[in-house]
Amino acid sequence: MRKKIVAGNWKMNNDLAETEMFLVELKKQVFPENVTIMIAPPFTSLNHAFNSLREHPVTIASQNMHQSNEGAFTGEISAKMLKSIGANIVILGHSERRAYFMEDNATLAEKVNTALENEMTIIFCIGEELEDRKNDTHFEIIKTQLSEGLFHTSNKAWESIIIAYEPVWAIGTGETASPEQTQEMHHFIRKTIAENYSEEIADGVSILYGGSVKPDNATEIFKQPDVDGGLIGGASLKVASFMEIVNAF
Ligand code: PEP
Repeated sequence: MRKKIVAGNWKMNNDLAETEMFLVELKKQVFPENVTIMIAPPFTSLNHAFNSLREHPVTIASQNMHQSNEGAFTGEISAKMLKSIGANIVILGHSERRAYFMEDNATLAEKVNTALENEMTIIFCIGEELEDRKNDTHFEIIKTQLSEGLFHTSNKAWESIIIAYEPVWAIGTGETASPEQTQEMHHFIRKTIAENYSEEIADGVSILYGGSVKPDNATEIFKQPDVDGGLIGGASLKVASFMEIVNAF
């Protein structure tokens, strides 16, 4: 059975006081047993969130990390630093990192290696631009992102890899991929993993959808057989909408 996962990506939102307000509300909730819940606050709130959620079934994730273990990289954060404050999960390859911080597939492959060496779980984001879909090159783009960013890893590594399919045209735009488009791409991703590794590995990988998931569309999306949950941006900033999505399975 694949894990069902709902992960909230807060992006550059919520200072410490706002994080605390969110956590107070979150801790009042009843958490379903069949869903793994994660939140990815900004670096400045990670340690507080980790300590605050110790007794709750919510895991914290980092939104990024540097590919080096240490050194002269002003402003960057290493895997070891993240682990030292309880963050064992890292989101890599988010389209905003790719677009605004020039993270290419080669850099992401290095980050993947560093995360694995440090025994972290990776949420690896892939997704095509609108242009790619219009040109009918979206499958090719996804295949390249997978092969250049992830397919150098060992079979064992897949125990620690979660995929998030996030079409760039659907992130923060209010546009959502239709349930059919989502299923089609998730199936393609699983098939591509099977071709490069094995059916067994492909069957075990959780593939999340991200891109304007909201309480009113989550159920339809999560119903698709190859969709194992969501990576949620905007709607994860309020406990009420986040929990509605968590409960949408
Ligand atoms: C995201 O940032 O990963 C995301 C999917 O954002 P949104 O839900 O706001 O589209």
